[in-house]
Amino acid sequence: MKVKIDADLCSACGVCADSVPDIFRMADTTAEVIKPDVPANLEKEVQGAADDCPTSAIIIEK
Ligand code: SF4
Repeated sequence: MKVKIDADLCSACGVCADSVPDIFRMADTTAEVIKPDVPANLEKEVQGAADDCPTSAIIIEK
């Protein structure tokens, strides 16, 4: 699984960085991806963060 963030959609709410800090962190005005290649043991958490993102800014590629 690969993940990226659409910075134009991100509202910087912080949900993704709070829920999966090994993958997401907050930058100045948006969240950013630390590890675009998601380890298998974090795939479920990353999918959950994408589902919870209020602006659907988290894009998953399988
Ligand atoms: S959950 Fe979505 S809107 Fe919130 S910081 Fe993460 S990518 Fe941005």
